[in-house]
Amino acid sequence: MTIEKPEIQVVWLKRDLRLDDNEAVSNSLNSGKRVLLLYVFENLLLDDPHYSERHWNFVRESISDINERLKPHDSKVLSVRSEIIQAFNQIQSLYAIDTVYSHQETGIEVTFERDKRFKRFTRNNTFDWIENINNGVRRGLKNREQWFEYWNAYMRSPKFEFTPSEGQLLTLEEIEAMEQLFTLEDLNTADISSFQKGGRTMAWRYANSFFETRHQEYMYNISKPEASRESNSRLSPYLAWGNVSVREIFQRAKDVKAQVKNKRHLSAFISRLRWQAHFIQKFEMEHIMEKASVNKGYHVLKKPISEEYQKAWKTGMTGFPLVDASMRCLIQTGYVNFRMRALLVSFFTHILWQPWQDASQHLSKIFLDFEPGIHFPQLQMQAGETGINNLRIYNPIKNAKEHDPDALFIKKWVPELAKLDLRFVHEPYLLTPLEEQLYNFKLGVDYPKPIVDINANRKRASDILWKMKIDPVVKEENRRILSKHTLSNRNRMLRDDD
Ligand SMILES: Cc1cc2nc3c(=O)[nH]c(=O)nc-3n(C[C@H](O)[C@H](O)[C@H](O)COP(=O)(O)OP(=O)(O)OC[C@H]3O[C@@H](n4cnc5c(N)ncnc54)[C@H](O)[C@@H]3O)c2cc1C
Repeated sequence: MTIEKPEIQVVWLKRDLRLDDNEAVSNSLNSGKRVLLLYVFENLLLDDPHYSERHWNFVRESISDINERLKPHDSKVLSVRSEIIQAFNQIQSLYAIDTVYSHQETGIEVTFERDKRFKRFTRNNTFDWIENINNGVRRGLKNREQWFEYWNAYMRSPKFEFTPSEGQLLTLEEIEAMEQLFTLEDLNTADISSFQKGGRTMAWRYANSFFETRHQEYMYNISKPEASRESNSRLSPYLAWGNVSVREIFQRAKDVKAQVKNKRHLSAFISRLRWQAHFIQKFEMEHIMEKASVNKGYHVLKKPISEEYQKAWKTGMTGFPLVDASMRCLIQTGYVNFRMRALLVSFFTHILWQPWQDASQHLSKIFLDFEPGIHFPQLQMQAGETGINNLRIYNPIKNAKEHDPDALFIKKWVPELAKLDLRFVHEPYLLTPLEEQLYNFKLGVDYPKPIVDINANRKRASDILWKMKIDPVVKEENRRILSKHTLSNRNRMLRDDD
């Protein structure tokens, strides 16, 4: 006699680590059937060079936060270390799976291929896999007709509620019985860390303080490496890992904006929420961007690899204080503001003349908020290889003087310069031998000499890249990219929210 296995629905949590406004969770609960919440720490991703331990700790903290919320429901997330198909095979040894729910992931090639394998697996096992739209990004679009209208309607639509019925979620006892089959993931992380802590509780702490007071300086400080740490929302890791939905933040921002006098700051913030989806949508429609420039005209650009330059950049030892401070700060905290990210990429690709592909994994590993759909398009845009965007070759000295005029940021992250007078903190190579003696500081010993001639290298990059802009293939590709990825009224993307 065969014993019938109990039937369940499974929510496969990915980069949507929350219960509220989570369509996958809501759809599973609406089925009225019993529900298991699952997160798989996939070896495939743990071993992937785009990721590092800081990401997995963020995920662990996010799941612990969900588990706290699930306590009154006598449930938790089944958190295991496995490959995804293996995990589902194990679950099927105890339960009959009816449907799996997850969000549509706009990810790197390994997750795209894994999803294709999983699709075949679901067909062979005759259960359904329902994927929902994530943060307004749509699969299978051919162009951006109506995209803005669609995004806007999505962001204004009602949020999904988390309202499980009594006993609907698998109980702790049932989950613990299942755990016997798996290698479990330890969700504990160090109490003290220099990174933003994961989880919805922390996400709302950041969001609340931003909407209450911090946003008042948002646009004044957005380019300043030190002050922006306080007055930017700092929501990026929470949005990237889905501790909050963009819709939740959008709706809250709209409400607050309606109440405040100076609307400029929140308008600019809301625009950036739209850019979030705009970039991810571009990557969704142009997967080649993980490995090659979206504009095929730039594929002929070959840059000589310099291990020495790359190492100096990766370790914050280039001899350019703002570049080094930004890199060291990223390594330590997982965060720098937009302009410093752009500066780091411009320095690597223009001044050091290295291919953006060689910067990609180092940065994704240290950005706590690594979001493939923003990361790759931004890298190429800052490298000047899209053809359609303005070419910006950042001058690290000028930027340091403009955006870190008192060198607070530089002194914090490059402490070996802290004892110097302000003008030498910005340009330590201006010290004369006598001044070096006075400061008891030796350039080349205490801090590196500039590894390249900045003016000559800026000119080289500018000459080559401007010339390429008029290359026929680049121009032809520009037309293709514009017709596929820009809105019929392009200014809509660029203007502040109204
Ligand atoms: C080379 C490069 C790589 C980047 N990689 C990432 C990444 O992996 N993940 C990531 O979230 N952001 C990335 N960004 C965009 C941007 O720098 C960060 O989103 C921002 O600094 C995060 O800080 P915040 O949350 O305080 O932003 P806020 O200014 O408070 O903005 C709110 C949210 O809007 C979105 N956003 C803000 N700026 C942009 C932008 N320029 N493009 C798209 N979305 C934006 C983010 O989700 C952000 O959390 C990258 C930028 C560059 C130049």
